[in-house]
Amino acid sequence: MATVEFAPNQAATEAITAHVLWMTIGLSCEGDSVAMTSATNPSLEDIITGAIPGMPKVVVHNQVLAYEVGDDYTKAWYDAEKGELDPFVLVIEGSIGNEKINGDGYWTGIGYDHLTNQPITLNEWVDRLSPKAAAVVAVGTCATYGGIPAMKNNPTGAMGVRDYLGWNWKSKAGIPIVNIPGCPAQPDNMTEMLMHLVFALAGMAPLPELDEAGRPVSLFGRTAHESCNRAAFYEEGDFATEYGSDHRCLVKLGCKGPVVKCNVPLRGWQSGMGGCPNVGGICMACTMPGFPDKYMPFMDEDPNGKLSSNLAKFTYGPLLRWGRNQSMKRKFDKEPMWRHNRPELTTGYQKRW
Ligand code: SF4
Ligand code: SF4
Ligand code: SF4
Repeated sequence: MATVEFAPNQAATEAITAHVLWMTIGLSCEGDSVAMTSATNPSLEDIITGAIPGMPKVVVHNQVLAYEVGDDYTKAWYDAEKGELDPFVLVIEGSIGNEKINGDGYWTGIGYDHLTNQPITLNEWVDRLSPKAAAVVAVGTCATYGGIPAMKNNPTGAMGVRDYLGWNWKSKAGIPIVNIPGCPAQPDNMTEMLMHLVFALAGMAPLPELDEAGRPVSLFGRTAHESCNRAAFYEEGDFATEYGSDHRCLVKLGCKGPVVKCNVPLRGWQSGMGGCPNVGGICMACTMPGFPDKYMPFMDEDPNGKLSSNLAKFTYGPLLRWGRNQSMKRKFDKEPMWRHNRPELTTGYQKRW
């Protein structure tokens, strides 16, 4: 477990040690935990070493970071259940299988019940820990809305955390489930929101504002398209027709960015670099509740995107591009007349006295 100790200076931070119990035992690929290790703003190292001024002490329990195995690793979950870790933020990664339709086995779990010797399923852990958690966070689209494991005709009954606990569920601290979707979730979105919640629990920050899908508005208030560095090419009707284009808009190759709430083109992936359409990959809408079923086939042009892009391409787009080029050519791409490029050294300045 990442239990790196630190000694913060501020008296306020000594009042609270927040535990982050990060369960990776949903129907998942653990891509969100792996992505989280590449966060830079703040980084995981910033969080577990207490490098951020004024921050409360944080202990992160996550099996990707843990050295312990078996009972040593699961001890934290039992401690939390007994009320010995308080406050704690319960983070769930991966979708929740419906254990009522598990046949003779079980879908996912960790640890075992010491009385029955039976595995403890994710459903049971959520039942045991959610009433004691100060906040519950779902990371990745599997945990938020079901994601890939919940695709049509899946046999597991996979669902998101809000589907399991209820969309109006609130923690004992009165906090609704915070959804941080993405497949995986953008690394800094996860660490930033965890820090926000820890500061909020310490009474040092307001609670994050959430939209109707449970997402923080500060992170998911804009569409991918509104932040994409190719957006001006859409406006000018300049569209790529094959992969490998270094600048044109990708909507005709299937990009769904205009209708997808995601800050990845704005924030990049790591240290501000990357970000799906920015670097030539179509947006497949991985942050959206309807992902993946409503956006497939991913590489087909969306009918609404086709309509609006054809409008841009065949009407105002070329006019905009022509007008802007003319403005640049005639006026803005030239030096002002009083700074003409002449053989003699002159700036055209006329002495007036
Ligand atoms: Fe893996 Fe994506 Fe599911 Fe996260 S949301 S667990 S990255 S499949
Ligand atoms: Fe919008 Fe996608 Fe085009 Fe970017 S590549 S401008 S997100 S449609
Ligand atoms: Fe997912 Fe699209 Fe955001 Fe990329 S830009 S992370 S594909 S929603």
